[in-house]
Amino acid sequence: MELVTSRDFLDYRDRSDEECHGLIKRAKASLGEDLVILGHHYQRADVYQHADLRGDSLKLSKLASQTNSEHIIFCGVHFMAEVADIMSKQNQKALLPDLAAGCSMADMANLSKVNRAWNELKSVLGEEMSVTPITYINSAADLKAFCGERDGIVCTSSNASRVVTWGLAQREKILFFPDQHLGRWSGHQLGLINETDMKVWDPDLWMGGLTEEEIKKAKILLWKGHCSVHQMFQPEHIARFREKYPEGHVISHPECRFEVCDQSDFVGSTEYIVQTIAAAKPNTRWLVGTELNLVNRIAEEFRPEGKVVEFMSPVVCMCSTMNRIDPQHLAWQVENLLDGTLVNQICVPESDKGMARVALERMLSIS
Ligand code: SF4
Repeated sequence: MELVTSRDFLDYRDRSDEECHGLIKRAKASLGEDLVILGHHYQRADVYQHADLRGDSLKLSKLASQTNSEHIIFCGVHFMAEVADIMSKQNQKALLPDLAAGCSMADMANLSKVNRAWNELKSVLGEEMSVTPITYINSAADLKAFCGERDGIVCTSSNASRVVTWGLAQREKILFFPDQHLGRWSGHQLGLINETDMKVWDPDLWMGGLTEEEIKKAKILLWKGHCSVHQMFQPEHIARFREKYPEGHVISHPECRFEVCDQSDFVGSTEYIVQTIAAAKPNTRWLVGTELNLVNRIAEEFRPEGKVVEFMSPVVCMCSTMNRIDPQHLAWQVENLLDGTLVNQICVPESDKGMARVALERMLSIS
C-alpha cells in the first residue's frame, strides 16, 4: 500500500496571500463539487471570498446537512465544524483549516462542569427534577449530546427565544449554557423580568453560588459564560452615538450584555442584522454591535445606498480565534485534498454523535 504523507504547513506559512489565493482557486476548480467551503459571517474577508456558502451558525448547520459534497471545509471555529460533521451524511468529511480556531465562549462550559451542575441541581430539586438543558450551538459536541440524552435541545442566536419557550413548555426550569447573555435576553423577551426568574449559575462555585431557595424559584439558570468579543460593547457607546446622531439606529447581537441589547432598537442574529440593514431605507445611519469583520463587510456592501454603518466599540473587537484561519491554512488544506490527503478532519466520536444530532434536529424541527 502506498503511504501518502501530508504536505507540511511550514511550506505554506510564509507564502504571500496572492500566491495562496491562486492555489485555492486552482484547487477549487479541480475538485469541483467534491468540495464545498462554508464561510461564517465573522470570517476575515480574504478567506470569506473563497466560501461557496455563507451565513450564521443556524443557516450553515442546515446547509451542511443538505450539501452533497464529499468534503466540507468550514471556515469558522471548531464547534461549527463539529456541527457539520454531526449533520453530514456518512460519506462526508468535515475539515477545519486551523485546529486552533476555537471559541472562547464554547470553552467556558465543559462536560465535567455541566455534569457537576446537573448533579448539584438534583441534590436540591430531586432525582426526577423538571429541568430542560439547553445549549447554545457555540458549545462542544459532548454538551450537545448531554442535552440530547436528557430531552434537551440546542439553540442558535436566531431561534433562542423560541427554543426557550419550547424548553419551558416541557419542564419547569431551564439550565442554559454557556452564554448567560443570550439566555438572559431570551428569557426577558418571554417576560421573565422578576429578579428571582433568572439566576446566574457560576460553575466554579458550590451550587453555582446560589441558595436552595434561589434555585427553586428560578425559571432559568444562566451559565456564567460570555463571548469576549461581544462583551466589549457598552451602553456608553450607544449613548454617545445617540447624542451625535439622534436619527440613527442601533442594532446588536444578543451575545451582548443585557444593557446593550435593552438600549438597542433591534436585537438579533448576524443573519437578522444583515437582513435588517439591507431592508432599511437608503441614507440611514446604523451603529452595529457585533464582530468587526461582519460590520466592515456590511458597511462596504451598503455604502452605495448611502447607508452609513458604524462599529459600536472604539476598540477593535474581532473574533481572534476565527481570524486564525488565513489564506495560508486554507491553501495548505485544499492542496492536501488535491493529493487525496485529509488534514485537520473533525471527527465527533460516534458515542456523542447520535444524541448530539437528536438535540440539533429537535432545534431544526422548531426553527
Ligand atoms: S465571536 Fe465570540 S462566540 Fe462567536 S465564535 Fe468568536 S469567540 Fe465564539
